[in-house]
Amino acid sequence: MPLLRNLDNLNFDNSYARLPESWFQRTSPKPLKHAHLISFNPRVAQRLDLDPCQVNPDQLVAYFGGLKPLPGTTPIAMKYTGHQFGHYNPDLGDGRGQLLGEVVNQRGERLDLHLKGAGQTAFSRFADGRAVLRSSIREYLVSEAMYGLGIPSTEALCLIGSEEYTSRLGMEPCAMLVRVTPCHIRFGHFEWLYYAQRHEELKQLADYTIARYYPECLGADNPYLAFFQQVQEKTAALVACWQVYGFVHGVLNTDNMSILGETFDFGPFTFLDHYEPDHIANKNDDAGRYAFFRQPNIVHWNLACLAQALLPLVDRQLLESALEMFPQQFADQELIRRKARLGLLAQHPDDAKLTEQLWQLFKQHRTDITRFFSRLSELSISERPISERPMAELSTESLKAFTERQPEAWSAWLVSYQQRLGIEVASEPIRLQQMRSVNPRYILRNYMAEEAIREATQGDYRLVNQLLPILRHPTEDHDTLRHYQQAPPDWAAAICLTCSS
Ligand code: AMP
Ligand code: MG
Repeated sequence: MPLLRNLDNLNFDNSYARLPESWFQRTSPKPLKHAHLISFNPRVAQRLDLDPCQVNPDQLVAYFGGLKPLPGTTPIAMKYTGHQFGHYNPDLGDGRGQLLGEVVNQRGERLDLHLKGAGQTAFSRFADGRAVLRSSIREYLVSEAMYGLGIPSTEALCLIGSEEYTSRLGMEPCAMLVRVTPCHIRFGHFEWLYYAQRHEELKQLADYTIARYYPECLGADNPYLAFFQQVQEKTAALVACWQVYGFVHGVLNTDNMSILGETFDFGPFTFLDHYEPDHIANKNDDAGRYAFFRQPNIVHWNLACLAQALLPLVDRQLLESALEMFPQQFADQELIRRKARLGLLAQHPDDAKLTEQLWQLFKQHRTDITRFFSRLSELSISERPISERPMAELSTESLKAFTERQPEAWSAWLVSYQQRLGIEVASEPIRLQQMRSVNPRYILRNYMAEEAIREATQGDYRLVNQLLPILRHPTEDHDTLRHYQQAPPDWAAAICLTCSS
């Protein structure tokens, strides 16, 4: 029988706060005015060994609204730097987030609790240390959406609202979010010690990071190189997930890159309503540096920044050779995930070509890929001789809305797909079941978040809470909010996102 805990006796072991004092500032969260609970995620609570039924909402507000210190925590603001939009910025660090402590759960997982929006720190520069309700709701919801899609990501325990206002897009209410993840170490942590020429400490950070996150590297000939290779592999897999599900991060600076390969620091992110490779999520990104199609290259560039920071520990040639493998690693990971969405589990030499042809059609037709794959996962085709059926019939039924503008091209692709399905071992019902398990009916479209924000700004938090289970189980059909399975409304195209948060 597992021992469940309450907020007062979580099992903390704050290892980062035992590292050199110059690596962080000791802090304490600044209370939010009229803090109140907006939402709580019982799934994440269970990861921390909390009994969700025993969690007291007043305690959540007291501890995560900054009113009372949570027993066992030692809050700190971490120092890091990073490359922002291609330029090195030495003045970064946790300017509004505070690492409260590390919970060690019964499975031995070590999970950071980080309070975002907790007030000014030594790294706030001229900013207020706060996060607004709008961006906090987006981060809260997308964290669960990522979990539901199986995309590595930080998670969120709860969301606290307030009657404190600050200036962003006009005056906006402030909020605090409890971010939960094994890792708050960013590429930028290593860049800081490298550019500050504190190479002994760089080694100390690498040793700490390897021991905590990559202990298997300790047995390698060169543990630091093995560490870099592991980070690169995880990061290649991560960006492959983004590309295959149409996720645009928006601000892929190296300080927003986790060394654990999780989606980290959500800003003006977007799930594409329509497949558009050159989509720019962040309206402040004039040059489109972080456009959707550039993400694999940018992530590769960011890995090169991390490699540079490891030069005092690893031979340059070895790091360069490792980096050269990234494009192939990404392509392999992308292909696995594209094929999974199509129910293709066997291997065929033309699989990359077949999937690329489909993605070219998506590009030409600005396809809503979420709805396309959701429909495809319902369509019985492998046991019917598609090639012998008239074109009109072929593009009918559930796919018609996607294929009607150029039915010949789509039917040619579907014929190849049907032929390729011939070598799959699984029966059609099993294949469709597998497809449904990776093809969501729901995705967190920007307009859904906007609707939740609009209602929350008026004090109605129901939609935030209703969206949570749908995003947690996006491949299931839900009785409520079924309209979110449909095409987005016209006004969704006009939503404009910026860095303002
Ligand atoms: P972000 O764009 O959220 O990734 O933040 C970039 C840097 O600016 C980080 O060092 C943040 O801590 C800092 N920052 C962002 N917003 C604020 C704020 N409202 N107050 C203080 N620091 C902030
Ligand atoms: Mg950031």
